[in-house]
Amino acid sequence: MKYYSLNQNAPKVSFERAVIQGLAPDKGLYFPESITALPAHFFENIENLSNEEIAFSAIQQFVGDEIPEAELKKIINETLCFEFPTVKVEDSIYSLELYHGPTMAFKDVGARFMSRCLAYFNKGKTEQKNTVLVATSGDTGGAVASGFLGVNGVDVVILYPSGKVSDIQERQLTTLGQNIKALEVDGVFDDCQDMVKKAFLDESLDFKNLTSANSINIARWLPQMFYFFFAYKQLKSLGKPLVVSCPSGNFGNICAGIMAKKLGLPIEHFVAATNVNDTVPQFLVTGKYEPKPSKATISNAMDVGNPSNFVRIQELYNNDLNAFQKDFTSFSYDDELTTETLKSIYVKTGYIAEPHGVVGYLGLKKEMQNHPNAIGVFLETAHPIKFLDVVEPILKIELPIPVQIETVLNKEKVSVKIKTYDQLKSFLHSS
Ligand SMILES: *Cc1c(COP(=O)(O)O)cnc(C)c1O
Repeated sequence: MKYYSLNQNAPKVSFERAVIQGLAPDKGLYFPESITALPAHFFENIENLSNEEIAFSAIQQFVGDEIPEAELKKIINETLCFEFPTVKVEDSIYSLELYHGPTMAFKDVGARFMSRCLAYFNKGKTEQKNTVLVATSGDTGGAVASGFLGVNGVDVVILYPSGKVSDIQERQLTTLGQNIKALEVDGVFDDCQDMVKKAFLDESLDFKNLTSANSINIARWLPQMFYFFFAYKQLKSLGKPLVVSCPSGNFGNICAGIMAKKLGLPIEHFVAATNVNDTVPQFLVTGKYEPKPSKATISNAMDVGNPSNFVRIQELYNNDLNAFQKDFTSFSYDDELTTETLKSIYVKTGYIAEPHGVVGYLGLKKEMQNHPNAIGVFLETAHPIKFLDVVEPILKIELPIPVQIETVLNKEKVSVKIKTYDQLKSFLHSS
């Protein structure tokens, strides 16, 4: 499979090059040259397939012959080492829990898949080292750290804003050691992001083979298709159309869902639910795409003012706004309603959600008014324990600590403090 840059000003590249580079030289996102739907019998028979078989069928065309079948199957098996249950929350509404992985964030899937692809491409090339550089507002860093731990030939450097991530998140980033380095930035998430962007443009750092592990990277973005298939497999026997709501920040997750639909997955409608960072909901109202600086919210993994994957969604609809709006709506919710709803879901149903999932739930409930006969699914993108500072005081309960979290709690934090881009640069030169 070849990939082209959505800025249309760079050569087409292989899957391998696209994964290693992350972003095209013209700063465009890579996009597959063709998308072939899966045959009808695949969907007719999906309940008889394992998750691994489904994932292989979904991703194979995007990898092509660049990773042999047996290797790709091994990568998929290692990626999908946990469950993806759909849990009934109320009549016709299900939570697709994506948080049962090693760091209890859905980003585990993409991070595990991408790291193993890079490891495969590095095999036997002793001189080829890659440095994954990633800025995190909390959740990405932990998933990337865990997914890449011990991966041959890959160094990981994570930048996070000092004092702005939760204690659990910080430990997930800073306690692993080996090939994982954490830089604690005196600043906010946008400062981390700016430094990372600057480093990618800095030719004096070319020798580090810098790549990104954000959802701009195709090997992190595409495997996110898998769980939309898993939701369908579990809910198919109900015999009703599906409406799926994704709590959205960079819009990688929902873009993967739309890609799954392109492959033939029967999803009737998508909702992109956002917090007050409402660039896309506003676009659907006004027709103008106006990125803004991000605002801090309690669903902080979605505090994104300029969602990077939105251009991919537009490409999936050939920039046809009418076709797009038939399949897709987008709504924005503030912290106050999110807090109230987190509480009312718990009081009415006993289900413990967390702020991101609740934003998804709110968007779903609104859209379901137009689909009275459908089943609604919202993505629960993180375990409530990851946002215990928010969830516990609202629900007035104490959450039990899952084993995945317990194991990092008593490990020692190791980080290097930086403030400026020059400090990042000298760190990269010396490491
Ligand atoms: C990253 C993240 C999101 C947003 O996903 P996108 O693919 O960036 O839209 C939502 N919830 C949580 C918990 C996340 O970590």
